Amino acid sequence: MLKGIAASQGIAIAKVYKLEPPVLNVVKKESNPEEEIGKLDVALAKTVADIERIKEVASKNLGEEELAIFDAHLMMANDPEFKDQIVAMIQEEKVNADYAADVVATNMVNMFESMEDEYFKARAADVRDVTYRLNCNLAGVEIPNLSTLSEPVVIVAKDLTPSDTGSLNKEFAKGFVTEIGGRTSHSAIMARSLEIPAVVGTKGILEAAKSGDEIILDALAGEVLLNPTAEEKAMYEKKAEEFQKEKDALKALKDEPSVSLDGHRVELVGNIGSVEDVAGVLENGGEGVGLFRTEFLYMQSEEDFPDEETQFEAYKAVLEGMQGKKVVIRTLDIGGDKKLKYYQFAEEMNPFLGVRAVRFCLMRKDIFRTQLRALLRASAFGKLAIMFPMIATMNEFREAKQVYNEEREKLIQEGVKVGDDVEVGIMIEIPAAAVLADRLAKEVDFFSIGTNDLVQYSMAADRMSENVSYLYQPLNPSVLRLIKMAIDGAHASGKWCGMCGEMAGDELAAPVLLGLGLDEFSMSATSILGARKIINNLNYAEMQKLASEALEQDTMEEVVALVEKALQK
Ligand code: PEP
Ligand code: MG
Repeated sequence: MLKGIAASQGIAIAKVYKLEPPVLNVVKKESNPEEEIGKLDVALAKTVADIERIKEVASKNLGEEELAIFDAHLMMANDPEFKDQIVAMIQEEKVNADYAADVVATNMVNMFESMEDEYFKARAADVRDVTYRLNCNLAGVEIPNLSTLSEPVVIVAKDLTPSDTGSLNKEFAKGFVTEIGGRTSHSAIMARSLEIPAVVGTKGILEAAKSGDEIILDALAGEVLLNPTAEEKAMYEKKAEEFQKEKDALKALKDEPSVSLDGHRVELVGNIGSVEDVAGVLENGGEGVGLFRTEFLYMQSEEDFPDEETQFEAYKAVLEGMQGKKVVIRTLDIGGDKKLKYYQFAEEMNPFLGVRAVRFCLMRKDIFRTQLRALLRASAFGKLAIMFPMIATMNEFREAKQVYNEEREKLIQEGVKVGDDVEVGIMIEIPAAAVLADRLAKEVDFFSIGTNDLVQYSMAADRMSENVSYLYQPLNPSVLRLIKMAIDGAHASGKWCGMCGEMAGDELAAPVLLGLGLDEFSMSATSILGARKIINNLNYAEMQKLASEALEQDTMEEVVALVEKALQK
């Protein structure tokens, strides 16, 4: 048995399909430039066509956020500068096209990899993927195409590229195992959105498995078994059946309310990044949207900030798609690790502590006003709540609310219809705001706790850094006390308090958050039903006691032990 990292839950039993991309042998050859440029033109055109075809297949399974990667690939394959550099080298050095493409791409990869910024680092993988496809087309060799699978298989590969995962057909691709990668690697994220079982980082699998072997993929335990005995197979078939039953039982909770055994009601809602994600929230029984991260609209835009009309259409589509259920839309949270192609942020030593989110919007009120107008116009089409991210002080909220009021007045003057019950709230993701929650609550309509940032700022531990991940402790009593301040602060003024950071969907955190009185839990769509099952089996009064006890512990480990004991009951 081989051990890996369970990246996307489920169990699959099938034949191995080993994905072995052709190995290219690119060598420098003296060549006729005209002929080589001709070949390059043909191969580039085929590369573009290939990517377009893959994107087309992928669009059936993936949301806009995941599809953006193919747009990045298309942009590169169509980039005149990329082509010009290759052509120049062919002409100047009279070398073969694949060699020139390789050299140009390697320079680009090196440049991207040397950059500090994670966004640009990730671009290196895109350059490699596109260049590999181009060179295969130049060499006339076919890249195995996973969309043509015609029998049920488990794919075994070193790693899957975005093109590979985009081509997966769920009917035949029953799961995949990779040799490298971790829980947040690209292929792992894709597996979760496709809802197919995956085990990644399985050292030794490439050597051990060959196409046609029988394989058991246990992506609950992160284990892989090759050529199992009849007994082993029967055991895993049973485990798979039980898992499926559990999943079906969860589906039965789709239209149920989220309510504790003793009748305490909460709301379980979804986090989304695009209009396309609405369907998943509804399918998984989401009672609304608790966070629409609008920055994706801005990050996908190529040339400039998205205009009012584009934004209006997107917000309206989400509100209408949610059929009258509440939708919390967050105003632009850009800066930090999130960059824009068309706007250069000032260099800062600590971008996460610099000009991001509402700080940026208050400096660039023109951009802020456009978004608020689009939001207000859309508010006539559903139940909208707006929240400002990264509020640190009362004055920031007042200033943002003032701009909101001005735009609202202007639209009314213009005779434009706007909703009359739009709630305006803030995210609590800076410790200062949590500590001042009782005061802030007097002026806002609601809070939504952003634990991804709240934890990073309270522990002073970069949320992107593996080296300090041991400090990233949502269940540390110190963080729980901040959360309690936010919830109690809201309630003292009769306001509601939600949470939209990852912690809201964490099964271990649910009992404590319920006990602390959290009103709304916003999480990725696929976590909603599991969370409902847990909450509907808990007793609110008992969880209130548990939460009080948790606040009095010294360490995160002690809190975890308390919760585990409560969940066992
Ligand atoms: C958060 O910080 O918890 C949050 C939801 O915002 P983001 O992850 O987009 O920073
Ligand atoms: Mg945040």
